Amino acid sequence: MSDSNYRRLVIISNRVAMPKAGGVPGGLAVGVLGALREHGGMWFGWSGELTNGSASDPEIIRRGNVEYATISLNEQDFEQYYNGYSNKVLWPVCHYLLDFIRYYADDFEGYRRVNSIFATKLKSLLKPDDLIWVHDYHLIPLAAELRSAGIENPIGFFLHVPFPSYEALRAIPGHEYLLRCMCAYDVIGFHTTGDLAAFQTCVREPIVGAEFLDKNRIKVPGGELIADVFPIGIDVDEVQQLAEEAQKLRQVQNMVKSLGGRELLIGVDRLDYSKGLTQRFLAYERLLEKYPNAQKVVTLMQIAPPTRTGVRAYDDIREELEQTSGRINGRFAETNWVPIRYLNKGVARKPLMGFFRNASVALVTPVRDGMNLVAKEFVAAQDPDDPGMVVLSSLTGAAQELTDAVIVNPYDRDDVADGIATAISMSIEERRERYESMMAILRKNDITAWRTRFVDALLNEE
Ligand code: UDP
Repeated sequence: MSDSNYRRLVIISNRVAMPKAGGVPGGLAVGVLGALREHGGMWFGWSGELTNGSASDPEIIRRGNVEYATISLNEQDFEQYYNGYSNKVLWPVCHYLLDFIRYYADDFEGYRRVNSIFATKLKSLLKPDDLIWVHDYHLIPLAAELRSAGIENPIGFFLHVPFPSYEALRAIPGHEYLLRCMCAYDVIGFHTTGDLAAFQTCVREPIVGAEFLDKNRIKVPGGELIADVFPIGIDVDEVQQLAEEAQKLRQVQNMVKSLGGRELLIGVDRLDYSKGLTQRFLAYERLLEKYPNAQKVVTLMQIAPPTRTGVRAYDDIREELEQTSGRINGRFAETNWVPIRYLNKGVARKPLMGFFRNASVALVTPVRDGMNLVAKEFVAAQDPDDPGMVVLSSLTGAAQELTDAVIVNPYDRDDVADGIATAISMSIEERRERYESMMAILRKNDITAWRTRFVDALLNEE
């Protein structure tokens, strides 16, 4: 047992997965909770509640050795910080989708203000020995705010989205400020070597003028930091177990029966323009045109729970998908077959893993994604004797690891259609071989490895 097990861990993210919310949480929450339970600690963030007045003081609940501390935010602050600068500027730029930038100076102000509020509210809960681990693009300035408030603890930052190249980053009004804020961390983690390289290029620019001391150590104004790659993984055993158990669920059995023996293609993504859903539907249409024999033997089920509703770009993508799926279904449907089952809602984790196990192919074709846990979960959920195959966008972090998936360019309809055809017709021997090699990687880079490596790096920065 390393010394790290005796240090309290304090995790900060925009939202906190509260125990009372029920259900099994997704990737970030699984990793964070695992680390918190191992070390004992606190998870701090926004409660999901809005107020008319100023932000509330932290409300704390304890479950075992984990405390959940949440604050409510003023409605306007939240709108500017979250829907505004975070999701109309940082999110699109980090995903190289610059046309989606909607910048307003007030939103930038709100972003800075909420980060400062987070620091003020958190400060009173911190102890001198705490290891602090901040998550994601909403909270880039948090370490700088905590440092100016006199906090000297080790502070790490993990970015769950891609880090853009300098030429994209400099489209962000305020990017100089963000880069300087990143220098206040002791450890910065990215999903891929590409993200790390982009960050290194950015801090080499005169705005920061970093000096590279050795492979991962960087000298920046005010100190040194470690920047490294920590690809987030999954709990492989948990997914396998859920997928097996889910075979008994009526919801899963009914879905399989409804397929009438057809091969299931499955897509599972938040309804977000970075997920390439319109392009995916058009590629599927291309498959049906180019391989007419596929027409009655496959069904695509796309699960797409809405997120960030009320943000214009998200409402637009929803409308576009409804139209596209409707048009394709109208064009190809038969009295006993509908090509696309488009579900505008989420599915609970267990039946979802059951759906994965019964699917022949997963379509994971974002136009950009930091990692993509669905791709990893799909592989882990398969029956080892007869595994399904992933058609995976080269523009996801997961493609750096799952090189034995069928890798495609999500912008190229023919490439995706051909990839689906390849996956459907792949021999069982080849599927088994690819499955084994992908599973070995999933086990090596699992969720425990992710959090352990990060916390150890933070601990070494003492
Ligand atoms: N997920 C789920 N139910 C749904 C849709 C998604 O449980 O209806 C889970 C999915 O299994 C995965 C996570 O949400 O664990 C999505 O993570 P991913 O990295 O694929 O994408 P993100 O939403 O973080 O961009």
